[in-house]
Amino acid sequence: MPALTRELGQRADEHDREGTFPFEGVDLVHGAGLLTATVAARHGGPGAGLADTVRVLGALGAGDPAVALVTAMTLFIHAAEARTPGWPSAAYTGLLAESVAGPALVNALRVEPELGSPVRGGLPATTARRDGGDWVLTGRKIYSTGAVGLSRMLVFARTDEDPVRTGAFVVRAQSPGLTVEPTWDHVGLRASRSDDVVLDGVRVPKDDVIGLAEAGATPGARPDAVTGAWNALGLTALYLGVAGAARDWLTGFLHERVPTSLGAPLATLPRFQTAVGEIETALTGANTLVSALAAGVDAGDEEAAKQTGTAKVIGTRAAIGAVEQALSLTGNHGLTRANPLQRHYRDVLCSRVHTPQDDSVLIAAGRSALGLG
Ligand SMILES: Cc1cc2nc3c(=O)[nH]c(=O)nc-3n(C[C@H](O)[C@H](O)[C@H](O)COP(=O)(O)OP(=O)(O)OC[C@H]3O[C@@H](n4cnc5c(N)ncnc54)[C@H](O)[C@@H]3O)c2cc1C
Repeated sequence: MPALTRELGQRADEHDREGTFPFEGVDLVHGAGLLTATVAARHGGPGAGLADTVRVLGALGAGDPAVALVTAMTLFIHAAEARTPGWPSAAYTGLLAESVAGPALVNALRVEPELGSPVRGGLPATTARRDGGDWVLTGRKIYSTGAVGLSRMLVFARTDEDPVRTGAFVVRAQSPGLTVEPTWDHVGLRASRSDDVVLDGVRVPKDDVIGLAEAGATPGARPDAVTGAWNALGLTALYLGVAGAARDWLTGFLHERVPTSLGAPLATLPRFQTAVGEIETALTGANTLVSALAAGVDAGDEEAAKQTGTAKVIGTRAAIGAVEQALSLTGNHGLTRANPLQRHYRDVLCSRVHTPQDDSVLIAAGRSALGLG
């Protein structure tokens, strides 16, 4: 893993600057066998659990978080299929065959311009209409990570039936009627190319849909606590990896920088030693929490799964706080584009945006503590 982290890190700055998708980084992860780490043993995969996955995502996040994010999505989808099979058998077998030949990235496209994230409720505008043996999909998805490099897109859509059903339609890349619009021009995770995907009459075989069911009150909610736990802990680990890379750059800088007024490296000053100690303490605490809960989830501990939203709040706050502190300690050096700290800061700010967002975790924790259910 350290070698892979280093290799990914070598081009992370270039991809961030140019806003280009790191195809060669994805190749490296595929070459290391990590893109299929969570494929179930019954499908011939290693069946890695969440504890292994958080270690992998932390290491990839430290190298290039864009590669880590698209890897995370692929690993989560294989892991969900390992736990509760939902894919049509032929579609999943086809994906696995492709995963042997080369990188086969998969991601869920859920967010839309009007809907925002479906996790809080609401029906998607993207509509699937039956035509003979196919579904025909029309709509627009935003924030579609790695869209240009995906093999399959799990498009969250509604049917035009009465009653309405929703599900994740398995759309193949290069399907006629599918366009990736390069709209992603973010401050952080620039290389993730989380672009818009426009579906204009895209055909999907009628059986290639996962979880097609009548839409309830929140049809896009995470289906179960364990799926939520994988998402929360996996992404927290990824951004703790970013913060770890920032810490490593900071410690190197403090050893190298010898101001004339001091005549010795900044690392010799107690002020900096204490500040690095604070960063180290915050990151160690957060990483330990993430690892422990991940092991608990693997062991089937339901309480551990329930605490993962709180761990995301604690972990992402620790990650953002650590990089912010590193910036304040390094003055102008941290803000210059020649150094990676500003990139780590922009990247780590994305951590809050992913589901679950802080407000929903905190209100649930508060209500529970107040005995309000
Ligand atoms: C780098 C990156 C990559 C991503 N990749 C993907 C991807 O591949 N696929 C995908 O599906 N998603 C992806 N997302 C989307 C992400 O996970 C969120 O679901 C999405 O950004 C949420 O929308 P929003 O908060 O940005 O905007 P909005 O939903 O418009 O919300 C704006 C603000 O209002 C708040 N808000 C919205 N609705 C409510 C409500 N009902 N009650 C209270 N507060 C509310 C939100 O918390 C937010 O602060 C990605 C995000 C990032 C940062």
